[in-house]
Amino acid sequence: MANLIDGKAVSAKVKAEVRDEAAKLKEQGISIGLAVVIVGNNPASRVYVNSKKKACEEVGFNSYEYALDENITQQELLDLIDVLNNDDKVNGILVQLPLPKHIDENAIINAISPDKDVDAFHPYNVGKIMIGEFSFLPCTPAGVMELIDSTGVNISGKSAVVIGRSNIVGKPMSMLLLHRNATVTICHSRTTNLLEICNAADIIVAAVGKANFVTGDMVKEGAIVIDVGINRLENGKLCGDVDFEAVSKKAGYITPVPGGVGPMTIAMLMKNTLTAAKLKANIK
Ligand code: NDP
Repeated sequence: MANLIDGKAVSAKVKAEVRDEAAKLKEQGISIGLAVVIVGNNPASRVYVNSKKKACEEVGFNSYEYALDENITQQELLDLIDVLNNDDKVNGILVQLPLPKHIDENAIINAISPDKDVDAFHPYNVGKIMIGEFSFLPCTPAGVMELIDSTGVNISGKSAVVIGRSNIVGKPMSMLLLHRNATVTICHSRTTNLLEICNAADIIVAAVGKANFVTGDMVKEGAIVIDVGINRLENGKLCGDVDFEAVSKKAGYITPVPGGVGPMTIAMLMKNTLTAAKLKANIK
C-alpha cells in the first residue's frame, strides 16, 4: 500500500515559513499585499478566490479583491491592471482564470508587470523558468516539487512522466523536473504508447483533467504518483486524474484529491507574493 503524501501538512509548513518571513518584514515596516481580480460569477473561481484571500489572512498579507462585472470590457480590465501595476501597496497581481470569452486572456497576462506576476504566467517569467533562473515559481508545478521532495526520494536521475502539456501545468512541470535532473517524458493526447511510457516511470505527474485516467496497470511498483487533476463527478464529489483505489496498491507514494496538490498551489502563490515583496525591497 502506498504512503500518502499529505498536501495539507506540507502546505501548512510552507505557509508557516512564509508567515514567519512576512512577520519579520513587517517589523521592518514592509507590508505585503496581493490584489485578486475576479470577473463574473463563475462559482469555481469564487471558491478559488476565497481560498486565496483566506491564505493571505493566514500568512499576514493584505488582500485587495476586485470583483468585476461579467460584462466589463477588455480595456477596462487593462486599465485596472495598469493601476495595480503602479500601486505600491500591491506586490502581487492575480487575475483568476478563466476570463469571459470576450476578453483575451493573453492580453491581460501580458499586461501584468512581470515583477508582480505571482502566477508566473507572463512570457518573461515563463522564459526565465525555461532557462532555470526564475524568481517566481509556477505555483502548481512548484507545489508538486515540494510534495515529491517531502518523500525524501532524490529526483536526480529518475525517470519522470508528465501527462499533460498545458502552459499552466504540464510544460512548466516538465521544466522543474528537468532542472532537478530527472529524465522527463511529456505525454499528451497524441501520445501512442502511454501505457509503456508510464510503466517505466519512477515519477508520474498526471495533469489531464479526466477522472480515473491513470489506472493501476500504468504504474510501476513503488513509483511516486502525483495527481494534479480536479474533476467533479456527477454525484458532486471531487476526484483527481488517478484511480486512487487501484494505483495506491502499487505506488510507493501517492497524493489524494482533495488534500494533495490543491493546497500546495495556494501555498506557493503566497511564497511568490513574499518573493515579490522581497525583490521590491531588495532583500534576498
Ligand atoms: P488542460 O486541459 O489545459 O490540459 C490537459 C492536458 O491533458 C493536455 O495537454 C492534453 O493533451 C492532455 N490529454 C488530454 N487527453 C489525453 C489523453 N487521452 N492522453 C494523454 N494526454 C491527454 O488542463 P490543465 O493543465 O489546465 O489542468 C489539468 C488538470 O489539472 C485539470 O483537472 C485541472 O482542473 C487541474 N488543475 C489543478 C490545479 C491544482 O491546483 N490542483 C491547478 C491547475 C489545474 P493535448 O495538449 O494534446 O490536448
